[in-house]
Amino acid sequence: MEKFEVAIIGGGVGGLTLALRLAQNNVKVLVIERDQNPGKIYKGELLQPKSLYHFKEMGIEEKIVDGSLALPTIHTYELKQNMRGTIEKSMYIPLHYDRLKTTFPEARMIPHERLKNIILEEAKSYEKFHYWNPAVFQRFTKVDEKRSQFSRASIKKNKEEIEIEADFFVGAEGRTSIIRKAMKQNLVTTQYNHHFLTVTFPRPENYLEARMYASHKSFIGIFPLPDNEVRCVMLIKPGDYNKMKKEGMSAFTEPFIKFEPELKDYVTQIESWKKIQLMVPIRHNIHEYVKGNAAIIGDAAHAVHPMAGEGMNLAIQDGAILGDLLGWMYEKNNLNPKNLKMFEKVRKKRADRLSLLSHFSALGYAWPFRWYQFGRMFALKRFERHPILHYKHMLNISGVGWWAYTPMDVLRFFGPSSMYIKPIFNKRSKRAIFTDEDDYPWRTK
Ligand SMILES: Cc1cc2nc3c(=O)[nH]c(=O)nc-3n(C[C@H](O)[C@H](O)[C@H](O)COP(=O)(O)OP(=O)(O)OC[C@H]3O[C@@H](n4cnc5c(N)ncnc54)[C@H](O)[C@@H]3O)c2cc1C
Repeated sequence: MEKFEVAIIGGGVGGLTLALRLAQNNVKVLVIERDQNPGKIYKGELLQPKSLYHFKEMGIEEKIVDGSLALPTIHTYELKQNMRGTIEKSMYIPLHYDRLKTTFPEARMIPHERLKNIILEEAKSYEKFHYWNPAVFQRFTKVDEKRSQFSRASIKKNKEEIEIEADFFVGAEGRTSIIRKAMKQNLVTTQYNHHFLTVTFPRPENYLEARMYASHKSFIGIFPLPDNEVRCVMLIKPGDYNKMKKEGMSAFTEPFIKFEPELKDYVTQIESWKKIQLMVPIRHNIHEYVKGNAAIIGDAAHAVHPMAGEGMNLAIQDGAILGDLLGWMYEKNNLNPKNLKMFEKVRKKRADRLSLLSHFSALGYAWPFRWYQFGRMFALKRFERHPILHYKHMLNISGVGWWAYTPMDVLRFFGPSSMYIKPIFNKRSKRAIFTDEDDYPWRTK
């Protein structure tokens, strides 16, 4: 029977990041991935600064920078839409990543499969990295229920059932996780009153800004990708997908052209509804990421609403942090599974906060009323105008740090922006950035 130190179920972005980190730490790791062909469904493409920082630690940031496009600012427009459907811009709110004083003061757009390939190719250059694809994790075959100790598992590979042994098992299988079930974790699920349509299509060479357009009853986001493409997302009511499909392509392109006439000759190049994917947003949370010698990361542990572009980033950051911890455990020859709880301690709080932040961002666009849009415009403008609120928001979504919202923020929110006091801002903002000690507390043990 083949034995590995760590077996990872799922070679998505989270599982691969974890595997690369482990291989770099000289840990014998197996990734079991079911899908042989590049994923056809759309998954996240926006890399937050903290994920870029972790890739820098792993030595692959240059390849990622070369294969992606920088977004220093997200340009948000609120639009007035009258009864006849005519649209005019009524407010512009830019949100600047470059306010952050960090290694990467920007987000980056990269095709999901390209990112996975960069990580996978790098991992393959390490002797300790093993990749079974296509292969499917079936079930655990040896479990000590009392100690939650999982020792053996059955894998289907080349139509054969193979048993493997591992010191640690990590579930990185996405939303439907077998390891999570084996850990007997119950999901707390939130559903939303809207769906999204998403598609990529060509863009003009100089169309390089991320733009979000919202009226009181519509929302579209346009995010430029490398290779002269854009990713577009459009919010719709549940049930509208089938109706729009019956109406034909114009049901998608016409509202789009109203919001962004500049892309008229490009959006009309979408050949058929087959290219447009329906996304049903969902949020789930669980109580524990670790049980005995098993852990879960990424969407297996926490699916988040896609509005703030966090899901893929949480998976990457989980992988990087757990990889460092397991690497440290092997280096120190301290394989007590209780150590895994340190991963949960670092990551759960951060993931829960970003899950909530994504949830609130989603609620901001959830109801189609003019007064609701007015409230959103007021809030967005306040966040943009006040330097501390602006900084806090960008810091918190970037993953680079966390600066908690306080009662003082309520005063900042409603008061004049002259309440900005520079020295306090500088000192406090520095403390809000996660240090290596925050990310990897075991290193100082
Ligand atoms: C429609 C959609 C839109 C999204 N939009 C965004 C966005 O805009 N921004 C963002 O940051 N995030 C977005 N996300 C979320 C993001 O894609 C996920 O958070 C991220 O991919 C999670 O990574 P992961 O590695 O945890 O899981 P996944 O990427 O889901 O990878 C899991 C892998 O496990 C494999 N697997 C599953 N079961 C088994 C098994 N039994 N045996 C072997 N292999 C198995 C699967 O084939 C898959 O490759 C979106 C997700 C979806 C579904």
